[in-house]
Amino acid sequence: MLVTISCTRPVGAEWPATDLGYLLHKNPSRRQTFEQSYGVAHVLYPEARDDRCTVALLLEIDPVRLVRGKSKGTPDFSLGQYVNDRPYAASSLLSVAISTVFGSALHGRCAQRPELAETPLDLRIELPAVPCKGGPEYAERVFAPLGWTVVATPLPLDPAFPEWGDSHYVRIELTGTLRLADALAHLYVLLPVLDGSKHYWLDAAEIDKLLRFGEGWLTGHPEREWITRRYLTRRHTLVRTALARLAELDDAAPEELDAIEVDADDAADTAAEATGDAAAGSDGDAAESAETEEHAPSLAVLRRAAVHRAVLATGASRVLDLGCGQGALLLELATDRAFGEIVGIDVSMRELKIAARRVRRLPEWQARRVTVRQGALTYTDASLKGYDAAVLMEVIEHVDATRLKALEQAVFGAAAPGAVVVTTPNSEFNVRYDGLAAGAFRHSDHRFEWTRAEFADWALRVGAAYGYAVRFEPVGPVDVEVGASTQMAVFTRNNGFTENHDGDEKGAA
Ligand code: SAH
Repeated sequence: MLVTISCTRPVGAEWPATDLGYLLHKNPSRRQTFEQSYGVAHVLYPEARDDRCTVALLLEIDPVRLVRGKSKGTPDFSLGQYVNDRPYAASSLLSVAISTVFGSALHGRCAQRPELAETPLDLRIELPAVPCKGGPEYAERVFAPLGWTVVATPLPLDPAFPEWGDSHYVRIELTGTLRLADALAHLYVLLPVLDGSKHYWLDAAEIDKLLRFGEGWLTGHPEREWITRRYLTRRHTLVRTALARLAELDDAAPEELDAIEVDADDAADTAAEATGDAAAGSDGDAAESAETEEHAPSLAVLRRAAVHRAVLATGASRVLDLGCGQGALLLELATDRAFGEIVGIDVSMRELKIAARRVRRLPEWQARRVTVRQGALTYTDASLKGYDAAVLMEVIEHVDATRLKALEQAVFGAAAPGAVVVTTPNSEFNVRYDGLAAGAFRHSDHRFEWTRAEFADWALRVGAAYGYAVRFEPVGPVDVEVGASTQMAVFTRNNGFTENHDGDEKGAA
């Protein structure tokens, strides 16, 4: 798998083209290698002259490592996992390599030549083999609006047998005058889009990446919807949220987004996902079947189910969903007649509006038990007293560490529900996510992410301080080394009282 990027010095410019090395933080006189979870990335400069400099990023993919890295618990040991096109074709792995090997350049950072990082350069990018399922015209459609001159040539299935026709691989050459960071961002987002089979874990954090690296060009792109859909491999909720957030950037009416309909081929893919048939709805190539994980229930689904079960097990009827966001859990709990009253609280009006709209669309018997309202969890709110259970699903990590004490007091001290279910990312699991840089958080708004020990310390301290017993449960497939992706703590109040509306805790205890 190979990409080369050439920079030509403009006539009369003072700087040598080898300054490309500064922008990429890679010395043109050295060959460097970087271990990746799926193989090795080499960076070398086939030419390094004052007038022209070319860098090559070459990935040596180890198909066995590619499989080992992800498929624990994947019941698919087909040969296709080992014999596939990943070693040869530029794809999402190249994207991952760009973000890890050229991370600073992708973010536009360059201490030595800051002005050059901001300058549009005469660039030429060559990708000898890119899987491009829509045909070469798709390469044109996605790159040309961004200022690239695109030459996309289909590669024959077998040059010895021209009558067999073309493969779905194309050779792509891009020329244009663009900032290096923009060029890398275009590759980062669009290579997996053309490929259409992203190899690594997809979750809502992908939306953040799409928006971050699509900044400045994706909102105005004529193919933004198709790009978004393909980038998120057509996961509909993700696509919808991403389009909604793009529309916000663009000031489009969010309501219009509800009208976005699912394409026929998307529907086929969804059906395939639902039946767990990884090969259906695609050309069934090896990369697709290596993605069985994506067809299993997503972590978000598993997490909601685990929280639902935990709340149900406390025997609660009146439930608070604190930091309910767009209301995914509210909708799930509403289907369960065990819950007589479900209240969603969030500080964000924007999220609440979406939640409220989704609740309004529920069947009447569900909708009438659900209310949402604005509130900040770091302030005591008398109206939150007396509930049987409260959920904080993926919320505490959004609260500044310095405000966490205030949240503890407001939730466990003042509202004091009979039970509290808390979920939060297990930071130890982050090493299992390709494309997540070491030490990075899963979401740009996370203020911290805790190891299992840190979470246990916090939960046990809070439990002891406010009189709750605590038990812990992993959520998602459990990795022997690093645990599960999500960690959950279930707090139950020691005195067993759940209906102390007047707040006379001492009398009740
Ligand atoms: N529980 C939802 C949303 C998680 S995202 C889910 O799992 O899908 C975190 C949510 O917490 C956001 O909607 C954010 O607006 C909300 N939030 C963060 N800090 C808050 C605070 N101090 N008070 C109330 N809500 C808060």
